[in-house]
Amino acid sequence: MSSSSHLFIITGASRGLGRALAEQVLDQGHTLLTLARHPNDGLQQHANAHGAQLTQWSADLTDAAPAGKRLTEWLAQTPHAQLASATLINNAGMIPALAPLRDVTAGAIAQGIRLGLEATMILSAVFLGATRDWAGARRLLNISSGLGRHPMASQAVYCAAKAGMDLYTRCVALEEAQTPGGARVCALAPGVIDTDMQVQLRGADAGQFPDRQRFADLKNKGALTSPADTARRILAYLERPDFGQNPVADIRDSAA
Ligand code: NDP
Repeated sequence: MSSSSHLFIITGASRGLGRALAEQVLDQGHTLLTLARHPNDGLQQHANAHGAQLTQWSADLTDAAPAGKRLTEWLAQTPHAQLASATLINNAGMIPALAPLRDVTAGAIAQGIRLGLEATMILSAVFLGATRDWAGARRLLNISSGLGRHPMASQAVYCAAKAGMDLYTRCVALEEAQTPGGARVCALAPGVIDTDMQVQLRGADAGQFPDRQRFADLKNKGALTSPADTARRILAYLERPDFGQNPVADIRDSAA
């Protein structure tokens, strides 16, 4: 990889919020590595149009150890002396089931926790470890959810993964604050965004998911934000000098 001044690594960039974040990062000419199960052909066009360097890896992050190993090797070979910053955005997420926990299979529980929590911890550990001696600014942004902070019936696995993400982010914030040149880290709730995830929530079985109508109403009232607007606000939030001062934040509290 040739060096550009800013390096981003974004998971779940094939669609939804992650895709919008990736497009905007490329439009600014930054170097980008993406990880998702599917590559996105449209991203290459953004890279070509703006002279940005794009690498897309196909990876199922419900089994993140191989991706973590590959990322360790990739970062070790990355020229970093000229990099002003390196940023990991753990964005990939999924709702494995919309049903009371008593009706959720062991496989769905494992998938939800492995993608939502285990993969983010593995990639965070790799990123923070492999870049620890890099001179540029280092930032870790975990895309969390209001549901990591508020309970909802039939969302136990998703809520647990996001709550775990929030607390481990707090722990890492303490660790990095005790380290000279430590990374700035934040778990950020992104608001309610018009993506496939919302389609899944509105399309759930109302008998199994009591809050289904609430999500249908949000769509009908036009209360969902677009992925592009949300991505703009998140990237502006990352640029704030106080990014990381509040390790568990909500974009809706930000004027950015
Ligand atoms: P989408 O469902 O639209 O997109 C999810 C992304 O995650 C896709 O790019 C998908 O890529 C990737 N992904 C899913 N499963 C895997 C997997 N096993 N391995 C690797 N990548 C995977 O979701 P959103 O864009 O809505 O969500 C983005 C983030 O924002 C998530 O963390 C979500 O929890 C959070 N969030 C979203 C809210 C909303 O209202 N939409 C509200 C609060 C938080 P692929 O299928 O190619 O693997």
